[in-house]
This record gives sequence, structure tokens and C-alpha cells, in this order.
Amino acid sequence: MPVARPIRPKKRRVAAQRTRRWLKAAPKLGLRARPGSATGDALRDCSDGETALAEARKAHDRLHEAIDLLPQGIVFFDAEGRFVLWNRKYAEIYNATSHMFRPGARFEDIVRAGVAQECYPEAKGREEEWITERMAQFAKPTNRREVTLTDGRCLLIEERATKDGGVVGLRVDITELKQREASFRLLFESNPVPMIVCEIDTKRVVGVNEAALAHYGYPREKFEKLTIHDIQAFEPDLPWDGDQSIDERNARTWQHTKADGSLIDVAVYSRRLTFEERPAALLALMDITERKRAEAHLAFAAQHDNLTGLANRALLCRQLDDRLIHTRRNRKKVAVLFLNLDGFKAINDTLGHGIGDRVLVGVARRLQSVLREEDSIARLGSDEFAIVQSDVTRPEDAALLAERLLMTNSDPYVFDGHTVMCGASIGIAIGPGDGEDADKLLKNANMALSRAKSEGRGVFSFFEADMDARAQKRRHIEMELRAAIDDGALQAHYQPLIDLKSGRITGAEALVRWPHPVRGTVSPAEFIPVAEETGLINPIGNLMLRRACMDAASWPGDARVAVNLSPLQFRVGNLLAMVMDALKQSGLPPRRLELEITETLLLEKSDHVLATLHALRALGVRISMDDFGTGYSSLSYLRSFPFDKIKIDRSFVSDLAANHEAHAIVRSIISLGMSLGVTITAEGVETEAELGCLRAEGCHEAQGFLFSRARPNAEIVQLLAAQHAVLGSAQPAVMG
Ligand code: C2E
Ligand code: MG
Ligand code: MG
Repeated sequence: MPVARPIRPKKRRVAAQRTRRWLKAAPKLGLRARPGSATGDALRDCSDGETALAEARKAHDRLHEAIDLLPQGIVFFDAEGRFVLWNRKYAEIYNATSHMFRPGARFEDIVRAGVAQECYPEAKGREEEWITERMAQFAKPTNRREVTLTDGRCLLIEERATKDGGVVGLRVDITELKQREASFRLLFESNPVPMIVCEIDTKRVVGVNEAALAHYGYPREKFEKLTIHDIQAFEPDLPWDGDQSIDERNARTWQHTKADGSLIDVAVYSRRLTFEERPAALLALMDITERKRAEAHLAFAAQHDNLTGLANRALLCRQLDDRLIHTRRNRKKVAVLFLNLDGFKAINDTLGHGIGDRVLVGVARRLQSVLREEDSIARLGSDEFAIVQSDVTRPEDAALLAERLLMTNSDPYVFDGHTVMCGASIGIAIGPGDGEDADKLLKNANMALSRAKSEGRGVFSFFEADMDARAQKRRHIEMELRAAIDDGALQAHYQPLIDLKSGRITGAEALVRWPHPVRGTVSPAEFIPVAEETGLINPIGNLMLRRACMDAASWPGDARVAVNLSPLQFRVGNLLAMVMDALKQSGLPPRRLELEITETLLLEKSDHVLATLHALRALGVRISMDDFGTGYSSLSYLRSFPFDKIKIDRSFVSDLAANHEAHAIVRSIISLGMSLGVTITAEGVETEAELGCLRAEGCHEAQGFLFSRARPNAEIVQLLAAQHAVLGSAQPAVMG
């Protein structure tokens, strides 16, 4: 235990003492007497004493002035612990006892006076003990401590022994600093945001606030033993590695592990500080787990179809563009397969949207199941899907995938006892080549899809360069056709049907004619497919049906009129009502109306179609199977519905004389018709030779240029009137 040094009393003149002390203190303070100066010589040469004294006083005053400028309190003591020199700030700090300050005054006496005046709250009740401790500190070579004075001020005291056994002391008023520290501590401790202080060198958590304890669930003793790595789930970099800003933009996102093992996403705002004299970081930790989850959910929703969970068009386009960039490097290609369900609308209309949705989800699953990891799929619209196939080297790769996709979708779907068949058609475009970007490739694949649909559905088709031009032509036709319908420009012509036994005209087929102001008469073979694609077939079909019934109602005799129906007219749902209305308006007896349908209508095996056909037949209307023999399984269709008439397709008739197989086919169709009791009509009869063959085989009826082309109604009326007048003629009534 160090004890206060004994102080030997000395009697000297005050001025000499001050000078001597100053001379001792001067080198310590960095002030040197100039060599050969009066000060340096003062003690050695007593005769120059007065001058020396004057010089010394001057230097002392200068020093005094200099230290008075210091913002800290400074004080010098001699080896006996007596005051030598102090500045104004020092006197200000100890204003309660400063009146006692004078050179030679004992530090201990001043301390005692301070204690007596209760300047030191720490000393209260243990005054002597405190003074002894204080003096022991004073005697140490260095000593640094903080003291709080009774008036609330806080001082940092630093004392150091000087070489000559004295002491130099510094006093810094740290009241404000302490207040700031205290408010910082309060801000930290009671902050609702979880915060930790972490030592930069060791990564040790050295302080945590209540909010952090509550949020993370670790007890304080445990938390303050962890390092920042212990709570971090992944992210290895630390927030103070980069910008130290507390700005939101510079927040980092970490994943932290809570005490219960759960992971949370945390935005970390960091700021460097010094904690217990070591570099540390204050980390404010905002739990953004929920926000991230919501953001992820929104991001997913923005890029996916919410029914099937597949990507949407925007995401697919992005993926496709990425793949296209890739192909430039690896020289492989990307195929886009645009898939559309066949007859989906009918499913929706007849079974309801609930089943429709389930079909879509089922289709999405099946399509996905045949794709590789690197392929992607999206739902683009109601029943439209697109598949992006990567690493395509030959078109056959895409064809194989298309076949697999069609195959997987060909099995029926069964929901709540409903068996739903839902085929598909696919258009394929391959890039780069058929398009350099996602938009173009999708557009061209869609164009190829139109081709596939028109080729009979359930197939796939590749994009071809001229499809674009054709598509434009189609759009042009559509526009003009619309105008023609609105203007009432479409006409009905009638091609006679001849009974081969009697040679009489038994009826006439209504064929639509479009007299175009520039192109002459446009063939229905050209515009009917466009009308079917665009839905214009419904107004055209309606128009033809009404016109044909009206015209036929005013024909002489009881010749029938045949009207062609497109499969699309059955989808609209009001076909039966339309037919009944046309009959009613015209007054034509139903038995004089024949409706021609093609095999494509029966492809779908739809109950709705069959029901409509039966209902029409029940009205007394006759139903004909047109273009027989061109479909895939013509014979099987004969089983599905009791047709009144079969029209052998022109392609068999035109080959009759020359082609042995065609002849055999025609013969078997005729005998089939006979045994079923169905009228057989041969289409496209152009020559006498063909007519001879058909007659020989026992064909009932014929139609063709040999007899007549389709003619305007007025001409048909004349022909029928003439026939009416010459009843029973055995010769064909009309010749082309
Ligand atoms: P389709 O129903 O098989 O009609 C017979 C087609 O064969 C008609 O062609 C007719 O002019 C043509 N034709 C008749 N005899 C001969 C012949 O001896 N030789 C040749 N080479 N051709 C002959 P068109 O008028 O060009 O009609 C083509 C197709 O357009 C029709 O075939 C039918 O499927 C469709 N079509 C015509 N009018 C309508 C209509 O009002 N509604 C619907 N849905 N389709 C129609
Ligand atoms: Mg026809
Ligand atoms: Mg035909």
C-alpha cells in the first residue's frame, strides 16, 4: 500500500522558489532555455541574479498564458506533492477549493478541504479511507480514473510521475460524454429494435438489448458468450466489411438462427463504435421474415398462373430470351411448342368451369411429366400452353417431344364420374431461325398451331416461312369477308342432284358464292376455313340456311335443298333453334331440307353433337354424310349415327375409270349403303365414263359438272319448272 511521501518544510523566498520550480518544470513542458540565455546562467551567476530572475519571470508568465489556453485542466506538483503550477481550467474545475491554490500548497491539504466541503460523493462516510486511497493513487507512477463530483460533473483524472519525482496531472471534464454514454445506453437497452454490440476482432457479442433477448430467445448469459457466426445461418460476410452507413439501402440481409432453431431473415444496419476501447459494431437487427415471405409470394404470383402454378407468359418470355442468348454460345437451338386443347370450350360449356379448371390442372401435370429439367412450360391463356425445349439439334427432337405431349394428353381424364377426352394440337417454331426473340418465336409457333388445327386437330405442325405471308392474306380475307357479310354480298347458288334411275333432279345443294369486286368469285374452299377460324362461319351458315329454305320453298315441285353445316355451328349451341326458325319462316317442310355434315364433326365423339343430330332428324330433316371416305375411320362413323345419305367424295369418283382401287372402294360404299338402306350420292361426276361406272354399280344419285355447276336460284327455278312440265323424263334433266 503506497503511502504519501513525507514533505520536508523549506524556507526560501517565494520568488526564488517559483523560479526554481518553473525551471524544473520547463523542460517537461517542452520549453527549453536558449543556450547562452540569461535564464540558463541565472543560478550559476548570482551577480546576474536580478536579470535572470526577470527573464525567468517572463518565461513563466508566457508558460502560464500558454497553459491557460488549454481546454483541459493541468497541474504540476513537485516531489513533495506541492503545487507548482496550474492553469485556469484546473482552478475552474475545482472552484470550491481554488481559493486555496498557491505555489507550495500541499495537494493533500487541498484534497482534504475538498472532502470537508463534500465535493466528492464517493468519500461520504469514509472520508479518511478515501483520502488515503486518493493519495496512494497520486503516488503511483501513472494513474487514471474517473471521479464524479457532488455537483454532478464527471472528471477524467490522469496523473503521471515526472522524472524529478514530481507529478503532472490532467483533468478532463467528461460530463457531457458521460451523459451521452448514458443516453446511448438507455437508447440501446430500451430500444424496441433488437440490437447487439459485437467486437470486430473476435466477432464476440459483447452487448445485447432486451428486444434482442426477447426476439432471439437466448438468455443473456448465453447470448453474450456467442459470436456473430454462431447465430448466422449462411451469409459469411460481416456488415462492417463494407459501408458503415446505417442507411436502409446499405442494410444487408442475413439469415439468423433463433434459440428454438428456427431461421429468420434479418436486415442488419451497422455502425462502428468503440466499446471498452476496442473496435466494435452496433448492429440493429430488423426481422424481415414476413416481409420477405410476402415479397416472395407476390413475386411468384406476378410470374405464375394461379390455377396451374405454371409460369406465365412474361416469365416464359424471359426464360426463352435467356435460352436464345445461350444458343449463340452453344450453337444448339430452342424449340417453342405452342399447344392448344381441342374442344376445351365445349367441356367448359357442357360440364361447367369447375371441371374445366380441373382439366387444365390435369393437362398441366401431364405435360410437365414428360418434360426434362431443362425444358420449361407456361400457361399462356385459357387453354393455351407453351413449352420451351432446350438443346435442340434437329427438328426431329421437337417432333418427338410434340408426339409425347400429344400422347400423354390423349388418355381420358376422369372427374366425379365424368370421363373427359381432351386432345390437343401443337405448333412448333425453332429459334434462332423461325424467330430471334421470344415474341417472334411464340407468334410463329402460334401460326404453326393454326395450321395444325386446320389440318384436323390432334396433330403438330412446324412453322414455315410463308405462313406469315399466308396469315396476312388470311387477315385480309377476314376483313373483306366481314364487310361482304354486312353488305349482304354473299349469295347462294344451287348445284342439282340427279336421281340416276329416273334422271330427275331430286334436289340441289346450296353452295355459298362470294362475288368479289376485284378478284371475281372467291372459292368457298378459300374463305370457309378463314370463316371457321374467325367464327364468321356462324353468320354465314345462318344466312345460307335461311336463304336456302326461302328459295326452296318457292321451287316448283318438291325437290329437296341440301345445306352444308360446319362443325363450328354445332358448338354455338343454338343450331336446332336456328333450323326450326328457318323452316318456320320459309314454310319449307322439314323433309325437303337436307343437312350435310362432314366426318370431322364426329371426331370429337361429343354427346352434344349426337343429341343435336338426333333432334334434327326427329324434326324430319334428313342428315347426309358429306365427303365420305376422306376421314380416318369413316366406317365407324356410320355406326354412331343413322345417316339418310352418304356422299362419296369427289376424289374417288374422279379416279373411277382409271384406278382399280378407287373403283373397288366406290363399289363397296355403294353396297354398304344399299344394305344399310341409305341413299348413296356420288359427288364430282364429270364424265360419261364415270357416270356409266356409277350406274353399273347401282349408285342412287349423282352430282357434278356433267349435269350442272352450281347456278343462281333463278336458273334452278327454271330447270325445276321445266322438269315439272316434263314429268317422268328418263334422261338427265340438266347437262353442264
Ligand atoms: P362440298 O359440300 O363437297 O361441295 C361440293 C363442292 O364440289 C362444291 O365446291 C362444288 O362446286 C364442287 N363440285 C361439284 N361438282 C363438281 C365436279 O364435277 N368437279 C369438280 N371439280 N368440283 C365439283 P364449292 O362450291 O367450291 O364448295 C367447296 C366446299 O365449300 C363445299 O364442298 C363445302 O364443304 C364448302 N361450302 C360451300 N358452301 C358452304 C356453305 O354454305 N356452308 C358451309 N359450311 N360450307 C360450304
Ligand atoms: Mg356438301
Ligand atoms: Mg362434298
